[in-house]
Amino acid sequence: MTQPVQGRGRFAPSPTGLLHLGNLRTALLAWLFARYSGASFVLRMEDIDRQRTRQGHAEQILADLRWLGLDWDEGPDVGGPFAPYVQSERTALYAEHLERLIAAGDLYPCYCSRTDIAEAASAPHSPLSAAGYPGTCRDPERRERQKQRNPGREPSYRFRITEQHVTSTDDRLRGATAVHLTGPKDDFVVWRADGTAAYQLAVVVDDAMMQVGEVVRGADLYESTPLQLVLFRSFGYRAPRYVHVPLWQNTEGKRLSKRDGSAGIAALQSEGLTPAGVVGMLAASCGLVEDKTECSPRELLAAFSPELLIGAQVGA
Ligand code: GLU
Repeated sequence: MTQPVQGRGRFAPSPTGLLHLGNLRTALLAWLFARYSGASFVLRMEDIDRQRTRQGHAEQILADLRWLGLDWDEGPDVGGPFAPYVQSERTALYAEHLERLIAAGDLYPCYCSRTDIAEAASAPHSPLSAAGYPGTCRDPERRERQKQRNPGREPSYRFRITEQHVTSTDDRLRGATAVHLTGPKDDFVVWRADGTAAYQLAVVVDDAMMQVGEVVRGADLYESTPLQLVLFRSFGYRAPRYVHVPLWQNTEGKRLSKRDGSAGIAALQSEGLTPAGVVGMLAASCGLVEDKTECSPRELLAAFSPELLIGAQVGA
């Protein structure tokens, strides 16, 4: 069993857009949690979704984080013992782990298209939520029919959730929650029909291989955690600790999306904001400092403790 070195932290942006204030705050908090415990900080570029990855964004993300004053001990631009730190260069590792899951009998090929799944969910009397998988390809005969219905389609691979898959997510900010996954609704994709690893597989392999001890990330990924815990267990890897930090919301109370690009670093720079001004703004938005404070990440660290966020109202 791989033993994570206690406390190694990471930030894992996807270069599908530039970082907006919400992502920047998550990066700052991930850095603070790691540095607070004297841990190494790893930067990993999650560019497996090639279709959504945009040219030049990875470099810009690194430049933006450095402009803020964040640093990392391992990453795409600095290397490190677990290189490469760019997911598109780690495909052999993901393929190897796919084989392990197939050999363990944890997966089944799935020929359903998105439309098939949406149709099954909207059928009259369907007990499914739109997000659930109808389980069609769990059954070899129905799978064969699906294959014929979608000729030429390569299969994706889904993890077969069984009644043993009860997990408990122990989140440092939210406490422990028992999660009862139910198959086949929760059978999730680990390998996509386009021949690439799905996020759930790539992130687990990387967090395990890079010996991440604590994952600090946005609350939008909270629902993925039980699935990731299932994968950690299946591989026999020890799972990290999790901290899901609230998402920054826009003035309408909705979470910022990558399209809120206007709130990115370039816009702030053009308004004349300095790194200390932006760090202060990010920190003030989660109650770490007073409004209008200007400070560097290091200055913030001197007064930081995770308890300051626990139970705090972290709004915009
Ligand atoms: N790459 C993911 C994102 O940018 C984050 C993955 C994670 O932190 O687990 O949303």
